[in-house]
Amino acid sequence: MILKKKFSASRCFWLSCLTLIGIFALSAGKAGAAPVEEWTLSLNESQLFPGAVARVDLVPARAVSSAVLLWKGVPIPLVSLSWQGSLTAFFGIPRNELPGSQTIELAVTALDGKVLNHSFPLVVLAKDYPVQQLTLPESKVSLDQASLDRHHREQEALKAALADLRRAPLWQEQFVMPVSGKVLSPFGVQRVLNGKPRNSHSGLDLRAPLGQPVVASAAGEVVLTADHFFSGKSVYINHGMGIVTMYFHLAEISVSPGEKVATGQMIGKAGSTGRSTGPHLHWGVRVHDCMVDPLTLLAVAGTAPGEGVSGVSIRD
Ligand SMILES: [Zn+2]
Repeated sequence: MILKKKFSASRCFWLSCLTLIGIFALSAGKAGAAPVEEWTLSLNESQLFPGAVARVDLVPARAVSSAVLLWKGVPIPLVSLSWQGSLTAFFGIPRNELPGSQTIELAVTALDGKVLNHSFPLVVLAKDYPVQQLTLPESKVSLDQASLDRHHREQEALKAALADLRRAPLWQEQFVMPVSGKVLSPFGVQRVLNGKPRNSHSGLDLRAPLGQPVVASAAGEVVLTADHFFSGKSVYINHGMGIVTMYFHLAEISVSPGEKVATGQMIGKAGSTGRSTGPHLHWGVRVHDCMVDPLTLLAVAGTAPGEGVSGVSIRD
């Protein structure tokens, strides 16, 4: 199979496609003696903004027992997407990542024990996120000790719930928006509460009137439901491969931890619980401990490499 690059002027997603040829023959020290193998490695974009989801696909030329990439010191396994025939990994570019070129290391061990090591570049682009001024009752901004203690307990419980998630993918289709409302506040906005700079916005605020059904973005397993100080009534869904989606400020929760959910299944109703200025849905996405812009997950999670994407064609 040949992955043929046809770069388009519009720089669509699958712009960067790196092809590895004959790596195993070279690593055996007998270049030219072994048949040439073609491994195809693709990165959804060679240049990504802070806050984006990156996707790496490897189409191996021989049976693989393990494949791991190293991103910012964190090993991320490539997992078989059975419906696509590739080994795939997702990871996030942190919102505060500085612009510049970075190197991703890939280590593959074949079933016969041979090892492939390869590195490839990823350029992080500069992005200036906007600033948003918000006004809230002072009691919700300057927390008393009891509220702070509660928040810390909630964070510990959250950390425990998300600590050991299975890595197999639990979804197959494209991810979908959890409500149909327009974006009220994008990911990454620098928040200023009552004149004081706070953490940047870790998700996407979507318009949703009180009581509007909220659905799961993709198939997965509910790992936590809670009523937290900041996020109010919340649902966390594990989709496998390090991807967790979260739904905050709900008026009602209609699923339980351990429950399997399907894409588009109702998980609760929109509300304004927790620290919220009015009814809406806060939709968050975490990829391997990194909060990312949910819209960038929509763009890459359910799309096959070279399928329905301009810029790349695959042929025998
Ligand atoms: Zn929000």
